[in-house]
Amino acid sequence: MIGTRIKQARQAACLSLRQVSERISVSHTAVSKYERDELTPSSTTLNQLAKVLDVTVDYFLRPARIELTSIEYRSHKGFSEQLAARVIADVSDQVERQLEVYDLLPGTLPDFHQPQLPKRIEDLDEIDALATKLREFWKLGLNPIPDLVDTLEERGVIVLVSDVFGANTFSGLSAWAGKVPVIIVSSEWPGDRQRFTACHELGHLMLHGRLSEHIDEEKACDRFAGAFLAPRPAVLSALGKSRKWLDYRELMLLKDEYGLSMGAWLYRAKDCGVLTEGKAGQHFGFFRKRGWHEKEPSNYPSETPRRFPQTVFRALGENIIGESKAMELLSAHRLDLVRLQTHVIGT
Ligand SMILES: [Zn+2]
Repeated sequence: MIGTRIKQARQAACLSLRQVSERISVSHTAVSKYERDELTPSSTTLNQLAKVLDVTVDYFLRPARIELTSIEYRSHKGFSEQLAARVIADVSDQVERQLEVYDLLPGTLPDFHQPQLPKRIEDLDEIDALATKLREFWKLGLNPIPDLVDTLEERGVIVLVSDVFGANTFSGLSAWAGKVPVIIVSSEWPGDRQRFTACHELGHLMLHGRLSEHIDEEKACDRFAGAFLAPRPAVLSALGKSRKWLDYRELMLLKDEYGLSMGAWLYRAKDCGVLTEGKAGQHFGFFRKRGWHEKEPSNYPSETPRRFPQTVFRALGENIIGESKAMELLSAHRLDLVRLQTHVIGT
């Protein structure tokens, strides 16, 4: 068991087997054997390992409870396999901390449920109906979702808003921790981009394995994100069935109301048939000329997950954990991120 932990910590520290072995003066074969649980490190070696990998000895002894599966992320130029391993190790650690606390207070992270979804999706237009179905199933109606992170957490999704993505080489990640869906978005983006990415990632969790071969999963998830944040009936009621031109100030107000970018509203208008392809193209041209395809003239505030820290303090208030444990859970969480960010920027 300890082997998984050592490997996780080594990957999180972005060190090779050889680099670790040189620093603790054992052969790299030995380190490799520790990681495969074929050899148990002595307590002295374990202490050295903890120092080199910047974790506590307790970290190794805490059983690895989860393994992230179906990991999906979009990486950009400059993103290495090594960095991916590190991000995933860090995310696993954060998810483990959260599950540790939620397990202490049953019911604090509700079970995740989803409606019966079609086995095969042949057309992007089907995704609109699917998003509406999910909203109905989660009793969200058709109105704007003011606090998306909170809404997802209430439905059993762990959402991490973290600076783990640092230098823009990575955008959003989704995975499963057993039956718990996990979504990570960057803390450095404006709120509308965070919300869109969170829903895009939710799209991966819902759509993966259901899309017919000719559908690009990234495009499908973008469509899902727009449709989840502004469902088709809401789009038609807000914009009308057919329009010639959408004034940018109208789009700005809709962005404020729905937490969906002006650009994404244009896509919704096109996808719901409110604007023809040609008209939508003119709007996109208007946006590009003003640089709004990169930075829009208005911002939507970002969101912060509250469930995890809230639950830590609840456990503290009920004497289920002590002050030092609470601080360890919360501060270690932050420290890890700082450590990671320093690395990402330094790469
Ligand atoms: Zn994606």
